[in-house]
Order: sequence, then C-alpha cells, then structure tokens
Amino acid sequence: MIATIEKIEYGKEVIEFELLQEDRKTLSIEVLPTTKIKVKAPENRNKQDIIKKVQYKAKWITKQRQYFIDNYKEPDEKRYISGECFWYLGKQYRLKIIKSNTDSVKLKKGCLIVEYNLKTPAKLINKWYKDKALYAYKKELDKCFQKFIAYNIVKPSLKIRKLTKRWGSYNKNSNTITMNIEAIKANKDCIDYVIYHELCHCLYFSHNKQFYTLLESKCKEWNKLKNKLEKLVL
Ligand SMILES: [Zn+2]
Repeated sequence: MIATIEKIEYGKEVIEFELLQEDRKTLSIEVLPTTKIKVKAPENRNKQDIIKKVQYKAKWITKQRQYFIDNYKEPDEKRYISGECFWYLGKQYRLKIIKSNTDSVKLKKGCLIVEYNLKTPAKLINKWYKDKALYAYKKELDKCFQKFIAYNIVKPSLKIRKLTKRWGSYNKNSNTITMNIEAIKANKDCIDYVIYHELCHCLYFSHNKQFYTLLESKCKEWNKLKNKLEKLVL
C-alpha cells in the first residue's frame, strides 16, 4: 500500500486529503468526523486521474466537512464521579471514588478505584495516567526500537504531553519523540503504531513513499491501527 498526502483547490480553499493506493477495484472518498479526508484508490490508477475525481467531488466534500464541524461534539468533559468510564490500554474501567485517609489509584476487577484525601480525584487520576503512560511508552519504545537497531540511529528520548491534534511527534534536532498522554487509553498495538511512525521519522523527515514503505515493513497493520485510534472516543 502507498499512502500520500495530496491536495485540491476549491474556491479559495485548499483541501488536503490522504490518498491510499491499495489492492482494490474502486475509488472511495470518505470524510471522517474529525474532518480528515481519506481517499482509497486502486494501486495502478493514475494519480492525476484520482485527483481529478476528487476535485469533481469537492462540493460534496466541503458540505460533509461542514456538517461534521457543525455537529461533531467534543467528548463529554469528565466529572470524576463514581460510575464514569475511563479507558486504559484499550479497556474501559468504571470509576469508584472513595473518601479515605490516603491518596491512591488502582485498577481492580474492571474498576478504577480512587481513594482520596489531600488531593482531588481529578488530580490523582491525571497523575496516574501520566505515570502509566511514561512507563508504558518507555517500555514500548525500547521494544519497537529493536527493529531499528540495524539503521545505526541513536534511540530517541521520550517526552509525554497532552497534544491536541496528534498522537505523537518527532523532533530531529533534539532526537526526541513526544507522545500524547492520551494514547495510554488505546491498546498497546495502537501505541506501538504511533511509536513506529515516529521512529520512521528518524530516517525520513516527510511522509514520502520511502517513509511508508519503512513503516509498513515494521508495522504491517499500521493503517488498521491508525483507523482504530481515530475512532477512539476518550
Ligand atoms: Zn509523521
């Protein structure tokens, strides 16, 4: 499969879309609730031809996108009360809040149990996520990096942050991968996909053909995992 970023112009607007060329017979255009546009096309189809087809649908795309902008709601803000659901490594846990004489967070039998005393449940949970994320990402980075040892690159250092629009990023100057703290809510395969993606940036700066060939060789299911992440409701 080949994945590239292409664009068309519509009025004053430049519309970017992700083009996946794969083993299929028809062309499909999809506007995701995140307003990203995904175009799937047969492998041997001429790129200019595909872009022309997408151009032809520009009005529809713009309309779809506007619909999602108007109707897409941010996931409900957490209230940190017993009964709420919290994701951790691809599984949902029900929150149980207990006033106590200690501050602690633990998982037990499908529940996220928070005992609080001096700190608020919200603070305790956010700190817990951060600790868990740092631990898990470090471990997964060590594992994923094994597949990159042959390239003679230095293992990037790791940072975690709350990123709003992406799961991870790579800074070449500092050789650092920044991971979104939210990714800890997805399963390990999804976390690995984000890490593999960023590790590929150690070798290729842009999302060019070589980049995707490398990514595919390290993480065969990357596209499936990417879709899974996009659908994750936090
Ligand atoms: Zn990238």
